[in-house]
Amino acid sequence: MSETILEIHFPNLRHNYQFLRKHLADETKLLAVVKAFGYGSDAIAVAKCLAETGVDYFGVAYVHEGIALRKAGIDKPILVLHPQEPNLKSLIEHKLEPGLYSHRIFDAFINAAKESNEKEYPIHVKFNTGLNRLGFEPKESKSLIARIAEESKCVQLKGVYSHLASSDDLKDDAFTKRQLSAFAVIVDRVIKTFPNTNFHVLNTSGVLNYPEAQYAMVRTGISLYGYGNATQVDAELKPVLTLKTIISQLHTLQKGDSLGYNRAFIATTTTKTATLPLGHADGIGRIYGNGNGFVWIHGKKAPILGNVCMDMIMVDVTHIECQEGDEVIVIGPSASAEALANNAGTISYELITGLSQRIKRRIVN
Ligand SMILES: *Cc1c(COP(=O)(O)O)cnc(C)c1O
Repeated sequence: MSETILEIHFPNLRHNYQFLRKHLADETKLLAVVKAFGYGSDAIAVAKCLAETGVDYFGVAYVHEGIALRKAGIDKPILVLHPQEPNLKSLIEHKLEPGLYSHRIFDAFINAAKESNEKEYPIHVKFNTGLNRLGFEPKESKSLIARIAEESKCVQLKGVYSHLASSDDLKDDAFTKRQLSAFAVIVDRVIKTFPNTNFHVLNTSGVLNYPEAQYAMVRTGISLYGYGNATQVDAELKPVLTLKTIISQLHTLQKGDSLGYNRAFIATTTTKTATLPLGHADGIGRIYGNGNGFVWIHGKKAPILGNVCMDMIMVDVTHIECQEGDEVIVIGPSASAEALANNAGTISYELITGLSQRIKRRIVN
């Protein structure tokens, strides 16, 4: 007897952490990015495991994600990459470190810190070196340094960072190198006034492709969960997530029979189908329907037929010996989330972070 389960394999998480450490100098700190429920896994469980394994820092996108970690007893420093104004007070209450990216959020933070009488509260400042998503402009660095120095009773500059647009794509190597040199110019300026700043610019593919730019710290997400944005790297990483389900029911369609909503699949020959308890409400989106997605049953590939329903998918098992109740693997060590995502025109990040909270999680230690 079974059901749909997302297994979180701690030994693989530890393996991926050790793999990344091998690419880093001993003194380089590793910030584990556990935003979006730990890339769709279980942020708290993953953070606890990584904290024991030796991770120095955690990163989340939003304040409430950081609060959840604090409430679970995580006491390592936590960087909030994208804090929002209404949450700055609770950020301070939970001793989270803000990544400040604009004058608006910087000023709001200074006000909030003064209101609660903070002294030398640790902050990080983000610069935009070409992603054009969040961050101060490099030309603002001088005035910003002066501004932070003015507020040095209230805040302490703990980190300065930027984010790469294309570290996984060596076709954009020249662009990435321009981002890294723009960052190096900022580093030189900041260091004169704030010599103890932790600089950080590398994400997963940055660590793997540009380790010379590791500075004091790196921020890795996807590789900890087992995906490295490159086939050679994937071969050395171990996927942390295994998504398993079962065959709820088998049906046999005759030529001309239709399957599922809007009759998106019409059998052209006798077709055996399996109905699985997993649908778009679980994170297997409609993009995976009509043959774009597939699952594995007894080591054989079974394509999704017709439209993905909210709670179910139907797969083609015409050529697979199977019974109701048999195990189905959707993603796992030999069923790559990357391959499944790519086949449907998306990336592993979207597939795993989209796995909904409805799916039960099980830790495998
Ligand atoms: C999500 C994120 C990361 C982690 O990126 P990976 O490619 O998953 O390693 C690092 N830095 C920032 C700013 C992010 O938003």
